[in-house]
Amino acid sequence: MIEPVSPSPSEPDVAVFDRVESKVRSYCRLFPRKFVRARGARLTDDAGGSYIDFLAGCGSLNYGHNHPAIKQALLDYIADDGVALSLDMYTAAKEAFLAEFERTILQPRNLDYKVMCTGPTGANAIEAALKIARRVTGRTNVVAFTNGFHGMSLGALSATGDRTKRAGAGINLDGVTRAPFEGYFGPDVDTAAQLERLLDDPSGGIDLPAAILLETVQGEGGVNAASAPWVQRIAALARKHGALLIVDDIQSGCGRTGRFFSFEEQGVTPDIVTLAKSLSGLGLPFAVTLFRPEHDIWSPGQHNGTFRGNNHAFVAATAALRHFWRSDDFAADVQRKGAILAARLEAMAARHAPHVRRSKGRGMMRGIEIESGALAARVIEAAFARGLVIEGSGPSDEVIKVMAPLAIADDELNAGLDILDSALTAVLRANRRSAAE
Ligand SMILES: *Cc1c(COP(=O)(O)O)cnc(C)c1O
Repeated sequence: MIEPVSPSPSEPDVAVFDRVESKVRSYCRLFPRKFVRARGARLTDDAGGSYIDFLAGCGSLNYGHNHPAIKQALLDYIADDGVALSLDMYTAAKEAFLAEFERTILQPRNLDYKVMCTGPTGANAIEAALKIARRVTGRTNVVAFTNGFHGMSLGALSATGDRTKRAGAGINLDGVTRAPFEGYFGPDVDTAAQLERLLDDPSGGIDLPAAILLETVQGEGGVNAASAPWVQRIAALARKHGALLIVDDIQSGCGRTGRFFSFEEQGVTPDIVTLAKSLSGLGLPFAVTLFRPEHDIWSPGQHNGTFRGNNHAFVAATAALRHFWRSDDFAADVQRKGAILAARLEAMAARHAPHVRRSKGRGMMRGIEIESGALAARVIEAAFARGLVIEGSGPSDEVIKVMAPLAIADDELNAGLDILDSALTAVLRANRRSAAE
């Protein structure tokens, strides 16, 4: 038996936030409660309300909130006065992480990557990846895709598609050529062939790129899952034109699509990979950029960041790798739950057609596309009123994105999906009623 959800009916006093905090805050507007505790796939608010969390820190909590094995490792480390911050000095915690990552992630997959601990945000890992590609190739242009999301610092934002976020920069965002992602013009237009034609043509107008940068499943851009053949063709195109392939696995990595890396089942080996979000396993800031040893062009400290030595994150990440990734059982379980999720979302899409257009995604990174962003927003609000935290993704937030913790129990996953289904049903019924009046 799972604990029932019990959303708090009334909004809390948020006067301090209104008075002190910048208007830039966003998620608190969707979920106006004050959260105080979290465990597994559950959030608890200050009035005792209990919510199922299908947001999971935008994919930063793949193992759930406060997983006991990860949390205990960190509690023991702190109790023992373990070093918290070390810049990039040698520490036992960093040594354990690097050794565990090599043994559990890189070696079994035959991946020969250097690990670069960047500043602790995904955006900073992307900045490092872009610098490496540009320095290695001596080129400046980078190809990135429609609906791509790579972070908010200027280099990463140049590669990001969203116009509102780009406008936040207040300066030209240069050095990137936009290419259409797979399916951007519908199923009949081959966007890999288009990009190939443009790059092959010496007069195509695209400067030869240092890198082609992509998410195999676009997280913020609408849960668009690229097919393996398309990704392979983009990889071949990068090789043909002397560009590096960068896979941004910040949201789609750490098991989200059913294997540790999202590209594992796609038959490509990127030159550069970025990881962040769920890497620490506990929601702590931690990012890495992985790249081929021959591309290790850095001089000491040439790209740094004060918090690149977040030892609490190293300890938690090591515990997460040990607990979840030393055997294949977890990945198999994620694939199994991914199939349950796919079947349920497909059934929902069929039942609520045409207001739900389709289900999309891969592994446990999936969503349903609603006919408009406005309707999706009402479904998200109705779901929250029923005790489910879930968000929209895509250009108009029209894709309701299920990012349940990967470690969620089946009954809790199903309970969350039941709430989503009942929220959809209620909103569509209200719609029909107001259309009839
Ligand atoms: C979240 C995200 C980023 C940026 O990470 P931050 O930690 O927010 O800087 C980059 N790429 C993808 C695919 C992401 O989902």
